[in-house]
Amino acid sequence: MALDLYPRIQKSLNEKRQNLKEFLASASSEEKEICLCEEEQTVQPHLDVIDSSLEKINNETLGICEVCREAVDTKLLEMDYTACVCLDHFSENEMRRLESELELSQVIQRALLPQHIPNLAGVDLAAFSRPSDIIGGDYFDFFQFRDGTQGLVIADVSGHGVSAGMLMTSLQTVLRTMAPETDSLSELMERINRFYIHNINFTTFVTVFLARFDHKEGTLDYINAGHNPPILYHKYSGETGWLKPNVPAVGLAEDFHPRAASVTLKQGDVLLLYTDGITESFNLNQEQFGHNRLSDLVRQNAHLSAPEMVQAVRERVSAFGGNQPFADDITLVTLKMTG
Ligand SMILES: [Zn+2]
Repeated sequence: MALDLYPRIQKSLNEKRQNLKEFLASASSEEKEICLCEEEQTVQPHLDVIDSSLEKINNETLGICEVCREAVDTKLLEMDYTACVCLDHFSENEMRRLESELELSQVIQRALLPQHIPNLAGVDLAAFSRPSDIIGGDYFDFFQFRDGTQGLVIADVSGHGVSAGMLMTSLQTVLRTMAPETDSLSELMERINRFYIHNINFTTFVTVFLARFDHKEGTLDYINAGHNPPILYHKYSGETGWLKPNVPAVGLAEDFHPRAASVTLKQGDVLLLYTDGITESFNLNQEQFGHNRLSDLVRQNAHLSAPEMVQAVRERVSAFGGNQPFADDITLVTLKMTG
């Protein structure tokens, strides 16, 4: 067993506990409501697991197999510090799944692959992403499910440290590896949470809006894991609505059972995905841009094309902040139904 593994697990768990406590102590109630999906107590079971694992490190019982009392594989423990059964005792199916996840956690540091905007008949798509100087924690991408339907994702890594940047690049690898293996949005989201929650290389958490878009039917199935709610403008009513969180952010909840919600987009409807760098940008009077200003902006500019909408939001938010450089990363994705 790698000699430094236990100190590394210990460091990682302390870091995560620190990040969580800082978040709970400093986040506004609105941020908490979004990120935790209105279930503040969701973090406690996770903190309990962290504490009991730290205790096991002290007792030298962490990573001891419950079946044969040997130490479980180091790689397994890096991926899941609560692992307490060796690979040998797994069923063939469980073994296959775990092996592919183990493999994935080894290759995770590869660089971000280029994101390309897909060409979908009857859909106008545009995206913009700019990291701030400090740390790039925003991410968006398009990918495909097993049956070929279009997937899209926008995510925002909370917390600080090296793991925040690494999480973003790894999320792309994880998504592009796991999505083609399934047709189920909930299964994909559950696997993502399982992959990150006990991995000692990731000590933070990430808000993820994950969707599956059937452009022919205009159906958008989504799971919002603690991410700022995308704005959906309906042309027929002239009103906007929010695609609110339906599960806490990834890496926070031990008990994580996402269920997809669904909306239908018709011609002229506009969907805007964004990260909190937009809504939390301040003006010179220390007021936040906020969700309502953004929603009004979408409604007033719903006649624009997707690239024009992205441009309009950038200009408006920038003007709001007195044209100062953005303090946080900003990311925008717009989808407009044209056909
Ligand atoms: Zn064993």
